[in-house]
Amino acid sequence: MSLLTEPFQDALYVIEKIEQAGHQAFFVGGCVRDSLLERPIGDIDITTSAKPDKIQEIFDEVIPVGIEHGTVIVRYHDVSYEVTTFRVESDYSDGRHPDSVQFIDKIDLDLARRDFTINALAMDKYGNILDLFKGKEDLHNGLLRTVGNGKERLKEDPLRILRAIRFSSQLGFKIEKDTLYAINDVKPSLEGLAVERITVELEKLFAGKFVRLGLKYMNDLGIEKHLPILNNYQILQKLGDRIRPVHSLEEVVCLIHQTEPSIDIRTITKGWKCSNKVLNKAIILNDAINYYKSHDLTNILVYKLLPDLHMSFARLTEILFTQKVNEKKLFRLKSNLVIYSKKDLAINGNDIIELFPDRKRGPWIQDIITQIEELVVEGKIENNNSILKDWIKWNPPGVN
Ligand code: ATP
Ligand code: MG
Repeated sequence: MSLLTEPFQDALYVIEKIEQAGHQAFFVGGCVRDSLLERPIGDIDITTSAKPDKIQEIFDEVIPVGIEHGTVIVRYHDVSYEVTTFRVESDYSDGRHPDSVQFIDKIDLDLARRDFTINALAMDKYGNILDLFKGKEDLHNGLLRTVGNGKERLKEDPLRILRAIRFSSQLGFKIEKDTLYAINDVKPSLEGLAVERITVELEKLFAGKFVRLGLKYMNDLGIEKHLPILNNYQILQKLGDRIRPVHSLEEVVCLIHQTEPSIDIRTITKGWKCSNKVLNKAIILNDAINYYKSHDLTNILVYKLLPDLHMSFARLTEILFTQKVNEKKLFRLKSNLVIYSKKDLAINGNDIIELFPDRKRGPWIQDIITQIEELVVEGKIENNNSILKDWIKWNPPGVN
């Protein structure tokens, strides 16, 4: 079988153009690894002897995302290709970026700077694999092994510790013995990393098909003691074998809070520097989980849960409770809802003001709408203008 599967076919153009200009270019890293494993290919990364300014000359559409580190994005047929010049790098003393990079004209040292043997594979335009560190053998045996001396490589950039664990969670691979020892030695250096980088890896780790294996490594190695939020609790131990893959950061945040209710959601999102979008979704999910605990699956719960959070909610119930919520039932309740938002109510603020012309406007109007909304969603009252008006007349707002 040719390794140059469909996603690589378009990318061949990029490689060929660079070669025609007199430079070398290869597919590299995750795309080669995943192609050999016959897994779906994520982004296609290209490594080249051409300097970034040359790449900018060769292609029409180039986005200079990290020129100082040698990386630009080439756009071709609406796909982005990360093209990086062969380079070597020094320490990551700020926990974020290498202190300096040096461009080189041969690929070998560029492959040597990569984290794991399975990520240090390159492939040419014919599908030939360049494998300087026995990466194919490790792929075959399902092993994560650092390129070169484990301790040195992990010290250079301790994020590689978390990357090892997240690859084990994604691929179901074991961590090779010496690499494991090195992780154990170097783990306190995790504390110097930029939080954003940690969060990205944690999100991928929790989404891995083999997350149970990943969390077992985290536990056995005592990694959580060196990570924000997780450091003062035994959350992963509590989660134990119940864990299953979750596919978004908001799910992870909600799961952590549900497992250790003494850490509130805002503390987690702040500690992990999550966006407000993640915070808001985590709150909605968490409210839904709490509501579910006391009321089971009701119309109101489904109504308040945004449609794009349905799957997240179902996945969380499977981990947190003995029984997963029935997705079919969830979707049936959703499609049978009488209204999807307040706007669909057959009554509005003006109708209510007209019913009580002598009352000063105030929050009481919203209070009535919220009451009516719940009744309509629960099917206790018909969404019909005159029926709703009658109900309000018989249940007038309290005096306040
Ligand atoms: P994914 O499928 O998650 O994108 P990936 O292997 O492509 O996995 P990236 O983070 O996209 O991971 O990195 C691309 C390549 O760059 C890696 O395969 C690896 O060769 C190299 N790399 C990335 N991060 C590091 C790092 N911290 N240290 C050394 N090499 C790294
Ligand atoms: Mg990648």
